[in-house]
Amino acid sequence: MRKETQCVHAGKYRDQATRGTNTPIFTSSAFEYLDREETLYPRYYNTPNQDAVVRKVCALEGAESGIVFSSGMAAISTTVLSLAQCGEHVVMLDELYGGTHAFATDTFDRFGIRYSFAATDADSVIRAALPETKVIVIESPTNPLLGILDIRQVAEFARSRGIATVIDNTFASPVNQNPIGFGIDVVVHSGTKYLGGHSDLCCGIALTSAALTERIRRMARHLGGSLNAITCYLLERSLKTLVLRVEKQSANALRIAEFLAAHSAVRKVNYPGLPGFKGHSIARSQMSGFGGMLSFELNGDSGFPTPFLRCLKLITPAVSLGGVETLICCPAQTSHSKISAEERRRIGINDSLLRLSVGIEDADDLIEDLDKALKR
Ligand SMILES: *Cc1c(COP(=O)(O)O)cnc(C)c1O
Repeated sequence: MRKETQCVHAGKYRDQATRGTNTPIFTSSAFEYLDREETLYPRYYNTPNQDAVVRKVCALEGAESGIVFSSGMAAISTTVLSLAQCGEHVVMLDELYGGTHAFATDTFDRFGIRYSFAATDADSVIRAALPETKVIVIESPTNPLLGILDIRQVAEFARSRGIATVIDNTFASPVNQNPIGFGIDVVVHSGTKYLGGHSDLCCGIALTSAALTERIRRMARHLGGSLNAITCYLLERSLKTLVLRVEKQSANALRIAEFLAAHSAVRKVNYPGLPGFKGHSIARSQMSGFGGMLSFELNGDSGFPTPFLRCLKLITPAVSLGGVETLICCPAQTSHSKISAEERRRIGINDSLLRLSVGIEDADDLIEDLDKALKR
């Protein structure tokens, strides 16, 4: 099956009693165990609603199996803790999602896990690896600068050294990028974003081989970040329109990136789909669409662009991303506010940088809203 078809049909549970077209919501936390190979239980991550939604995302990512979690951070923290232990070393990108970055700096010391951060290019990641390195954690595109990393090059190096690779594929979504095909071991998503797609649920998922899934499941049973049946169902329902949504979001984002790049009030636009963007050629080789995320900097003084945000009528200043509605935020005031101003400048996150999560509205309406606010 191709992706549009997988979105609708992969993994669905056909109820034999009613033959309804949708997976029923199984709310039980107790399941009779006689004559069953495996005990079903929500925190064993094996109930029918968990299973149905995992199988759909597995199909979309080309993964053998996986586990659905109660948040993106539950998926990431459980995965990393199941792959690295005391005395071992983890390489992470400097530009990882803030929560993942903070997870490492706040907790790895107490587990005796050593770590280093690398810049967003494959050579830096490879140079950061030590003989004790057991895990490499990457993202591409990164947040909020949309940095692009050569995924194949990192995967190939890691395979040759027996290092496990984990990629957070949230920004690209399974529609635009499938890292398992490039040799990556584990793909994680914050399902709160594109997979859920309507800014109304919180979940995460880790997708990998059957063997690694069992290793992650062991840790997941201890940490207990399982997802309830109703949210599994909502996620499954959302996934049916994933391709439609992400294709529209990607097309809208390209139009807006081109509009902003040509605007005299805009200094810089970060979008992998723009031919002049630094990571464009690598993005072309590993993404089938460039996604719905972009960031840009306004001209003029470098203060926080709050007055501009107040002029927007349609686009909402809010954190989070990937929903059907267009959202904008100033990373220096939100996701990266806890990093010192000096450190932000070093990474390239200026105070005037704005991050846009483009929705499925009409692109002309979004451009008009931006244009009016830019003029004022
Ligand atoms: C939001 C996000 C996360 C964390 O997901 P939660 O569902 O909020 O726990 C991880 N990675 C990326 C790239 C994200 O955008």
